[in-house]
Amino acid sequence: TTPSTVRPRENVGTIPAYVPGKPPVARPGLTAYKLSSNENPYPPLPGVVAAATSVVEQMNRYPDMGCTALYDALAARFGVPVEDLAAATGSVALIYQLLQAFCDPGDEVVYAWRSFEAYPIAVSAAAATSVQVPVTGSGEHDLDAMAAAITDRTRVAMVCTPNNPTGPAVSHTALRAFLAEVPPRVLVVVDEAYVEFVRRPDPVDALALYREFPNVVVTRTFSKAYGLANLRVGYAVAQAPVAAALRAVSLPFGVSGVAQAAAIASLEAEDALFERVEALVGERTRVLEGLRSAGWEVPDAQGNFVWLPLGEATLDFAAAAGEAGITVRPFAGDGARVSIGEPEANDRLLQLADPSFLPT
Ligand code: PMP
Repeated sequence: TTPSTVRPRENVGTIPAYVPGKPPVARPGLTAYKLSSNENPYPPLPGVVAAATSVVEQMNRYPDMGCTALYDALAARFGVPVEDLAAATGSVALIYQLLQAFCDPGDEVVYAWRSFEAYPIAVSAAAATSVQVPVTGSGEHDLDAMAAAITDRTRVAMVCTPNNPTGPAVSHTALRAFLAEVPPRVLVVVDEAYVEFVRRPDPVDALALYREFPNVVVTRTFSKAYGLANLRVGYAVAQAPVAAALRAVSLPFGVSGVAQAAAIASLEAEDALFERVEALVGERTRVLEGLRSAGWEVPDAQGNFVWLPLGEATLDFAAAAGEAGITVRPFAGDGARVSIGEPEANDRLLQLADPSFLPT
């Protein structure tokens, strides 16, 4: 073997690994549940499978690169012009594309931490610099501190609402106040991957914000409420120049025809989908109340998951959860994120809510 002398860019070697949620480990006599990736536990609605299957049969053909029918469906659904839309291979791809299109090497990207683990990876992949602003003790964005962290080098600020993994969502009032502080040359990404689950008062009205603030881009996904995680399709809404920049750096044919068809069919089946979302929100309330009445301090949960700030007990808790047949997502030394799943899976979590795990 000839020794290699090719070298990736210097910071590529330091990019942290993305650790995907682990699958459940089956145990004799115990159904195992995966609560580690914030997936939707429901199967797709029947019309969705049929729409996707009809495209599977054309797998020898490239998909519509312009996502024409999907853009038309999204434009009709949200009352936005098609020029303001960009679809991609999951909303995580949109985040990569935004950083690629807006950051020069060394530019700063401000975001809350802990937040979505792909952010530091995507920032490094764009050769930009992460500026992480700690979330508050109750897992909320500290938007004042984030505004104060903006420098001449800041090109992008990211607001994850609801925040993965800690749970709270920012209010419309707070986000507006933040946008009034941020210089208009800084792109503000509002990551709304879990927006359909938000039930707090004064929720963010992102579609109104992006019209008022041309530096706002909203990212959303079909992976969570719509239950299409495996098909990889997300979309961004922004004023036309930002949306055009996103499309310009997109991977050609990145969104498969199967994903486009399933996304359109899911939009058509929204009434039924949102009944399921409502059921998940009901389960979230039940889990939150159960955990809190067992003495656990759990932050507000506005996504399809709860955050257990277990500190040093995190890995022990994750192991105990695994024994009990639920796979959770541990962040060592910090806490565990547990998705809201089937009622039986949620019951297992509540049975585990033993005060012995609580940090002393
Ligand atoms: N944003 C947040 C906050 C997320 O939690 C996730 C998925 N875990 C994503 C974006 C990306 O989702 P997808 O690429 O499946 O659309």
